[in-house]
Amino acid sequence: MSKKWVYLFTEIKEAEEQAGSWDSVRALLGGKGANLADMTRIGVPVPPGFIVTTEACNAYLAAGEKLPEGAWDQILAALKVTETATGKTFGDASSPLLVSCRSGAKFSMPGMMDTVLNIGLNDKTAQGMVILTGNETFVYNSYRRLVQMFGSVVLGIPDEPFEEAIARRKEEKGVKDDTELGAADWRALTDEFKAIVRQHTSADFPQEPMEQLRFATEAVFKSWNGKRAIDYRRAEKIPDDLGTAVSIVTMIFGNMGWDSGTGVAFTRDPGSGEKMLYGDYLMNAQGEDVVAGIRNTKRIAELAQESPAVYAQFLDIVQRLEKHYRDMQDVEFTIERGKLWMLQTRNGKRFAKAAIKIATDMENEGLISKEEAVKRVKPADVDTLLHPQFDLAAKKAAYSDGTFLAKGVNAAPGAAVGIAALDADLAEEWGLAGKAVIMVRPETKPDDVHGMIAAKGILTSRGGATSHAAVVARQFGKPGVVGCEAIQIDLQARTLEANGKVIKEGEWLSLDGTTGEVFAGQIATVVPNFEEQTELITLLKWADDICAQEGTRSWPEGYNGFPTRGLQVWTNADYPKDAQRARGFGAVGIGLCRTEHMFFEQERLPIVQAMILAETIEERKAHLDKLLPYQRADFEGLFQAMDGLPVIIRLIDPPLHEFLPSKDGLLVEVTELRIKVKRLEKKGKEKKLEKTKTTLAEKEKLLQAVEGMEEANPMMGLRGIRLGITMPQITQMQVRAIFEAACNKAKEGIKVHPEIMIPLTGHYNELKVANELLVPVAHDVMQEKGIEIEYKFGTMIEIPRAALTADQVAKYAEFFSYGTNDLTQMTYGYSRDDAERNFLLYYVEHGILPNNPFQQLDWDGVGALVKMGVKKGRETRPELEVGICGEHGGDPSSIEFCHIAGLNYVSCSPFRVPIARLATAHAALKYRA
Ligand code: PEP
Ligand code: MG
Repeated sequence: MSKKWVYLFTEIKEAEEQAGSWDSVRALLGGKGANLADMTRIGVPVPPGFIVTTEACNAYLAAGEKLPEGAWDQILAALKVTETATGKTFGDASSPLLVSCRSGAKFSMPGMMDTVLNIGLNDKTAQGMVILTGNETFVYNSYRRLVQMFGSVVLGIPDEPFEEAIARRKEEKGVKDDTELGAADWRALTDEFKAIVRQHTSADFPQEPMEQLRFATEAVFKSWNGKRAIDYRRAEKIPDDLGTAVSIVTMIFGNMGWDSGTGVAFTRDPGSGEKMLYGDYLMNAQGEDVVAGIRNTKRIAELAQESPAVYAQFLDIVQRLEKHYRDMQDVEFTIERGKLWMLQTRNGKRFAKAAIKIATDMENEGLISKEEAVKRVKPADVDTLLHPQFDLAAKKAAYSDGTFLAKGVNAAPGAAVGIAALDADLAEEWGLAGKAVIMVRPETKPDDVHGMIAAKGILTSRGGATSHAAVVARQFGKPGVVGCEAIQIDLQARTLEANGKVIKEGEWLSLDGTTGEVFAGQIATVVPNFEEQTELITLLKWADDICAQEGTRSWPEGYNGFPTRGLQVWTNADYPKDAQRARGFGAVGIGLCRTEHMFFEQERLPIVQAMILAETIEERKAHLDKLLPYQRADFEGLFQAMDGLPVIIRLIDPPLHEFLPSKDGLLVEVTELRIKVKRLEKKGKEKKLEKTKTTLAEKEKLLQAVEGMEEANPMMGLRGIRLGITMPQITQMQVRAIFEAACNKAKEGIKVHPEIMIPLTGHYNELKVANELLVPVAHDVMQEKGIEIEYKFGTMIEIPRAALTADQVAKYAEFFSYGTNDLTQMTYGYSRDDAERNFLLYYVEHGILPNNPFQQLDWDGVGALVKMGVKKGRETRPELEVGICGEHGGDPSSIEFCHIAGLNYVSCSPFRVPIARLATAHAALKYRA
């Protein structure tokens, strides 16, 4: 027997046996097909049908668009079974079976691939349907829809000529809604549509139902490789080789009259996560009428009044589905002459806030475990919740300034400010150019997704909370306002108009996706208050507990990583206020304080410059003495803020020229001063001349110093530990300041845990020398202060050599912290400052590199050095504390790597601490034995 390419909805058990796991069933039948079959199994009313597998799709595409052997025969056999189940016959005028061909991949890709409805209608079956239903309007509306969908999906005819024909008809009739057109109109439109097909393809619309079915199935397969689908897969990181399945489903008609209808609903509010039915429906309509946002839909709650029995049944079904899948469901349903059918269920896409609320609520309801709840929330969701919202006062002011434009449906929460772009291509162009853009459209289509991805926010004048624009906005976490009917969009004039104001394309708009309000101009935004987000706090606490439990776990046998204690999350903070914020976000240590940042402050920079230019060691020390109190006060603040937690303070790292004015600027100044001196000499203006000469001499000295420090490649020059060794007075002052601060605070009862970090070690001898220069200073201070405190001396691993010789380095370091910014720079040989500007983005766009290695740690290359360093370091010093403080410390993929490599903590900027807490738990759960 040939391979099984087709599964009936009643064959879910066979599919499970074949595929092995539910995940594999979804891969084989597509998410939609698998769930239709699964719903059939649990007794939910699903129209009879069958699924052509993703394997058939892949075989079809691989063979150069040819159905694999046996597939068509299996389709015909399944169709026969469907005919028996429905009592109808495909292509038979007396009792015609009509079907839809629906795409559905393993992962939902809403609207990205094609669907054809009403297959099986032709001139003869249409007449038969008229006799059967007595409803000519319905039949010809369905028939023209088939011609239109077949035309655009299978034959590649643009949608416009079809839509224009309908618009013309409505205008002639003086009506607004499609439902106001009658039988004669739809019959005439069907003929007109057939003529459009003939005109575009020089062939007639196929009357043979089997031909329709075959072409439609193949068209769905082909749509897997359509531009929309590919763009979407890129954005969502969905592999290209999954393929789509085709579900062939008996047609159920929501447009058979006013006792029929169709709708989409979520079992919980996808914006807030509240436990309530959320969705829209329309009576006497077909599916896309609701989703396309062409007609104004009704809220699902109204169905309770309009059709109480159906509503009650619907409620019962969706509650069962939620329990069955243990997740919020997004369902599609159709009512045909009072009977309810479910056409789809899937785990609903949701906005960040809802994701967190639903996860914690479902744990409270006993539906899922804490681990499952933590897994359900993406680090990006947490990120969104920490993103700006409108400042209330600024928003109030916007009202009194009269910039309010209109209010629409609050489709996707959050505040967005940007310039209006009236089409997707422009939104993308401006977005890529770094501009903040609000994409404004009457409604959106799947072809618009690239613009929506590039935009900060999305605004439409038509459509409801489940329209395409709304769904996509939520999915990508973009604030969205839809169905804002008070806004008139003029695509010709490139303007929008509301509340008596005209906004031109390129002018500013502010929209509040949480409330649906739209304003002209820019409204100030604020970052939401973390402390008030109780559900997020609860979830992150669960995440911390998961990591803490790792302490007792060891790795599966054969794994060459290291037993991990579970990653902690520390923070990179230079100032007490940052440290406090990070602590509020849940950081349990400072992994990096970049002390040089303090040198740049206004009152300190002149002292720093004088110290650098000092001609004798005494002079240098005198300036450093002036800096010491500043640094001591900085560190006291940090110890205070981190009472009880470790604080890693890194000694000065950058090359000294970074503290001096630029050479180019100085050259200009010196040249100008020289000219001025000559002019003044000629004019004989003695007093002014003297003053100018003095300034010139100062600037010349400075220029000379800057030239003396000039390096061809300063990132690899005199910086870090090299500077500390050749000019030890600076780092000695810093160590003194750290220990004076620590001793002072310890005396006040603060628990201090200073860790002194030396940057850029390459050879262990460097560290040996540095320790000899610095450790005595620490002891001196403790002796002076009469108090002993615990401390560590350690190093950053930023130079590949240090990682390669980590066993030697660990002899002189009590801890390692991977500076993966420099380590990436040095491993790749890419300049951090130049790579992104010059070639790196090109590399990523063209797939030469899978990712920007400065954002996402390169597991294979830089990662190999990290792993090796950890292994060798702990060979020398088993208790070696190892962390990461490069930018990668807040990136989920890099965090996963750090978990595998057996690090103790990741350190990241304060705002990324909550994201990192979730990501560390995800890593722990993923690698649990
Ligand atoms: C690093 O190199 O990763 C690091 C944290 O140091 P900096 O970025 O300050 O060079
Ligand atoms: Mg560095």
